[in-house]
Amino acid sequence: MLIAANWKMHHGPGATATYCSALRERDLGGVDVVVCPPFVSLPNAVQLLAGTEIGVAAQNVHWEDEGPHTGEISPAMLRELGVYGAIVGHSERRQYFGETDETAARRARGALAAGLFVIACVGETEAEREAGETQSVLRRQVGALGEADDHLVVAYEPVWAIGTGHTATPELAQEAHSLIKSLLDVVVLYGGSVKPENAAELLAQPDVDGALVGGASLDVDSLVAICEAGR
Ligand code: PEP
Repeated sequence: MLIAANWKMHHGPGATATYCSALRERDLGGVDVVVCPPFVSLPNAVQLLAGTEIGVAAQNVHWEDEGPHTGEISPAMLRELGVYGAIVGHSERRQYFGETDETAARRARGALAAGLFVIACVGETEAEREAGETQSVLRRQVGALGEADDHLVVAYEPVWAIGTGHTATPELAQEAHSLIKSLLDVVVLYGGSVKPENAAELLAQPDVDGALVGGASLDVDSLVAICEAGR
């Protein structure tokens, strides 16, 4: 069971230090936890979680080691910092920052080649689901990622469920996860308004291997409660 906490643009270095100091004292009951702070908070997270089993991942990563790419961060730079992995292709990057299947895949491949663990996000929009395109969208997005890899995890995040309070039913999540696993033999996380109240039934689905949690991961108690629901 893997629970990844996507803090998005929340928790600067100070708040990260407070959060991580509290988290490292908590019993996570054997659940694997990865926190994904904003770039500027990564050094504090790495430092404060050193010596624990809790991983630290970035929310994005470029595919090259260095170059003229203003605003980007390379896999080598993350490795130098002691960061363990990165999210790629999050729907907020796809919707608002021009991320495509191709760039998400390049990020994933570059990060994997550098030895990072990758959480690659896929998922249909509300319009795509209503048009009956969920399966074809997932096939296209997952297909673009290429080969399975021990360090590659896919997060199924239906866009209509992210930050909206609307969660996929456990059956819908299971159906999508089963399709993704038939395409790529990887661990598949569910993401989309996961919270302590709905985590248990989502995480109980046979092909749901964990969760990528946004809003409800910003509070340590809430994250720990989700881990408890997943045990
Ligand atoms: C996310 O950002 O990956 C996410 C799933 O957000 P939320 O849990 O807030 O819907």
